Amino acid sequence: MSKKRNYKGSYAGANTVSFKDMLLKKDILRAISECGFEHPSEVQQTAIPFAMVGQDMIVQAKSGMGKTAVFVIATLQQIDATEGEDAEIDTLVLCHSREMAFQIHKEFERLGKYVPEIKTAVIYGGVNFTEQKKAIEENMPHVLVGTPGRVQHFMNKGIISFKSLQRMILDECDDMLQDDSMRRQIQDIFKKAPFAKQMLMCSATISESAARVCRQISENAEEIFLDDSKLTLHGLQQHYVELAEDQKIKNLTSLLDRIDFNQMMIFVKSKKRATALNKILSEACFPSIFLHGGLKQEDRLDRYRKFKEFEARILITTNLCGRGVDMERVNVVINFDMPEKSNEYLHRVGRAGRFGTKGLAITFVNDESDKKTLAEIQDRFEVKVTTLPKNIDTASYTN
Ligand code: ADP
Repeated sequence: MSKKRNYKGSYAGANTVSFKDMLLKKDILRAISECGFEHPSEVQQTAIPFAMVGQDMIVQAKSGMGKTAVFVIATLQQIDATEGEDAEIDTLVLCHSREMAFQIHKEFERLGKYVPEIKTAVIYGGVNFTEQKKAIEENMPHVLVGTPGRVQHFMNKGIISFKSLQRMILDECDDMLQDDSMRRQIQDIFKKAPFAKQMLMCSATISESAARVCRQISENAEEIFLDDSKLTLHGLQQHYVELAEDQKIKNLTSLLDRIDFNQMMIFVKSKKRATALNKILSEACFPSIFLHGGLKQEDRLDRYRKFKEFEARILITTNLCGRGVDMERVNVVINFDMPEKSNEYLHRVGRAGRFGTKGLAITFVNDESDKKTLAEIQDRFEVKVTTLPKNIDTASYTN
């Protein structure tokens, strides 16, 4: 039987419970405070107290509300480890992309800074298998973060075992569960772990069909759901520009000249278009880089890091970075190509306006199909996407 609760989705409510009130280990509190987290967001307030005592959960809350910290804190709180002891994998975090795996692992390192006895590691495809294998065998972690394919491969080769697994976390679960091959990999891993384990499943969107699969995975999950139609971010201004395909570049460069931004993400529909658009922008001296799934893994992470560390101000990318990826300085998102599904739109524009900050999203609308998607987005998420005004006050989308 599911226990669905509907919550509003704000950053901190009037009756805010503090992180201290949650009775977390003092070493975790210290790291939380060093991260600059003063108050828990609503999803953190409601989910952490359940998750940290082993409750199964399905957590759906807007992008940028700090869902990662929910499962990272709940995990660190529950693991008892002793410095120098041999570890067994206690917690497995699965996510859909290598960039996400890298980012989640970093969050474990950040929030686990003062519990170094809890060892964490990350594995994903596209990088040297032997080196990763050696690193894991030499230093088995308590917490393993990875993409389903590589984790399954490690498991099948006997490099890792889930016989002592206490907890399995699926981040952006709807995306992973809707992908047939990932779902099969997850199911395979799930079956090899003990039956009695905590399941934490999170996403900004969880479709009915994904929710059904989540409920099959855990019958007793506590469910925290936001009203799907209220998923848009309050601080985010959303506009569109109707234009012909051959006018896109001209419009984009004029926008880049006109609007002030901290960092910007530009989404296109294919890897080829990402590379081509980057070439055009770089040649015009715009500080851009591109990132897509066709690049070598080391190169992908290198570009990801460069953008995160502000070495480039514009990232041209595909849906690969449409979800979950947290770039705190991004305040403008441009959909150079309209996403295929309304869901994808929500995830993409959510890259700006993280954790209650302000942002601006501009979408190029080209043909009838784009118009239909835009109408669907406005309808489904009860959001008004208006035509781009001639002048936008920088202060309205910059913190
Ligand atoms: P989600 O997974 O919900 O999309 P993230 O976990 O990526 O969101 O968090 C978004 C950003 O908010 C991150 O930069 C994170 O460090 C920050 N963050 C998380 N919790 C808090 C908090 N309580 N106070 C301030 N910032 C926070």
